[in-house]
Amino acid sequence: MRNYDIVIIGGGPAGLAAAKSAAENGCTSVLLIERDTKLGGILNQCIHNGFGLSYFGEELTGPEYAYRATEELKSVNPVDHPSVEILLDTFVMEITADKKIYAMNKKDGYIEISAKAIILAMGCREKARGALAIPGTRPAGVMTAGLAQHYVNIDGYMVGRKVVILGSGDIGLIMARRMIFEGAKVLACIEIAPQPGGLARNITQCLQDYGIPLYLKRTVTAIHGKERLTGITVSQVDDKYTPIPGTEQEIECDTLLLSCGLIPENELSRKAGISIDPKTGGPFSSDVHETSVPGIFACGNVLHVHDLADNVTKEAIEAGKAAALYVSGKASSTSEQAVSSPKVFPGKIVRPIDPDAAKALENGISPTEDGNSAVRRMTCIICPKGCTLTVTLGSDPKVTGNSCPRGEEYGISEISHPMRTLTSTIRVRKLDGSIGRVSVKSKGEIPKEEIFTLSTKIHHTVIDAPVSVGDEVLPGVVATSST
Ligand SMILES: Cc1cc2nc3c(=O)[nH]c(=O)nc-3n(C[C@H](O)[C@H](O)[C@H](O)COP(=O)(O)OP(=O)(O)OC[C@H]3O[C@@H](n4cnc5c(N)ncnc54)[C@H](O)[C@@H]3O)c2cc1C
Repeated sequence: MRNYDIVIIGGGPAGLAAAKSAAENGCTSVLLIERDTKLGGILNQCIHNGFGLSYFGEELTGPEYAYRATEELKSVNPVDHPSVEILLDTFVMEITADKKIYAMNKKDGYIEISAKAIILAMGCREKARGALAIPGTRPAGVMTAGLAQHYVNIDGYMVGRKVVILGSGDIGLIMARRMIFEGAKVLACIEIAPQPGGLARNITQCLQDYGIPLYLKRTVTAIHGKERLTGITVSQVDDKYTPIPGTEQEIECDTLLLSCGLIPENELSRKAGISIDPKTGGPFSSDVHETSVPGIFACGNVLHVHDLADNVTKEAIEAGKAAALYVSGKASSTSEQAVSSPKVFPGKIVRPIDPDAAKALENGISPTEDGNSAVRRMTCIICPKGCTLTVTLGSDPKVTGNSCPRGEEYGISEISHPMRTLTSTIRVRKLDGSIGRVSVKSKGEIPKEEIFTLSTKIHHTVIDAPVSVGDEVLPGVVATSST
């Protein structure tokens, strides 16, 4: 049996920040266990930008955020005196309330570990077709958006050519744009609720930029095809989300990506007897993120699903500190508070939209185009806030509705020369001759109309390893992760 003060399960942004914080708060015996072969968690496959604005103060891609978080951990974990040991490619199968951890990997086989405290940081999982109970056949081509993201961004497989997205959460929106960059046709995004689920800026930059229609108050009521998906039936729904007979519409497609919600990964938590909050799907927790079992803490998406990685990092820093204080005896357990008055997390903000805006979304255009040629309204895509800007056109355009100076710059640029950052992956010939992929992004913003030219160029290029983060792999294109 191996012994540690703190064992952290999961090496995504939550696990990385919790480990750093535990070390910074004096704990010298920490083990971080990750089932993947590299640290970073889901961020490794999220190659788009939009991460890090509040924690790192700049907009990063997912792999860049993972790289920065890993470097931060290294900075407090010197190689000659490491406080944090990292065990990759290792799957935790079970944990117990008395803080035993049972794991397995190829090198060591079955591993038994004992800890004074555990920090759960296993992230979340997507609702798959089974959970959604969509009737019909079971052909290839129906998968979750996150799985498609892994296939396309990590493995380099194209998942389909004629794509429909079910669900308008951020993952679905991001994947709609990603599939377009990879040469697919995205026919529609279908949403059961009366308003989009994702951030307003993602509606703009992932759907409207590419004319992808968003159909609200509809759902998929049948799946067709034997070997491969050949089409779906879409129906309108009533206020109780029940399909309305007679409203069926067929869409011919070969791929259906499901982006219908995330659930905290709670199997290990349940097995350890941790009380689960039915509202979040994650453990009930105290103000310092301790669960109902003394000495077991939780942070990140395993606790409740977060929109932003930055908030995950901040929460994990608190959990790491609390666990370190608990094992040192400087703080007593707060697990009773987790049961008696658990921490309440803010629910998702619902932004209802009017029928005209919904109609505009169906046509793939901005819901804030109001037909007034002297004025343009738009969603600012600079940060997750997504301010609605009004730009008065003319020789000296004026922007209102922005909450920061960057919003004003964006509004003016958007009416004269819209700019975007392109993110993609590029093929890399490794030293052994095999082909891998690294994520890349344009060096700064490029004119919107040049996106497809650059995207095609990236697509047709193979570069040679080694590649490091920040390397210019093509003129104007930098690597954001290394092989
Ligand atoms: C498609 C998508 C787009 C997003 N876009 C943005 C964005 O633009 N901006 C933004 O700020 N945020 C975004 N997010 C949210 C952000 O990425 C997540 O909130 C954040 O990464 C969650 O961190 P985490 O550490 O809790 O979980 P994860 O990153 O999921 O890490 C959990 C880790 O635990 C490991 N693990 C799980 N079970 C076990 C086990 N039994 N044994 C060992 N290891 C285990 C997993 O392998 C994984 O590495 C996005 C998320 C997704 C999915």
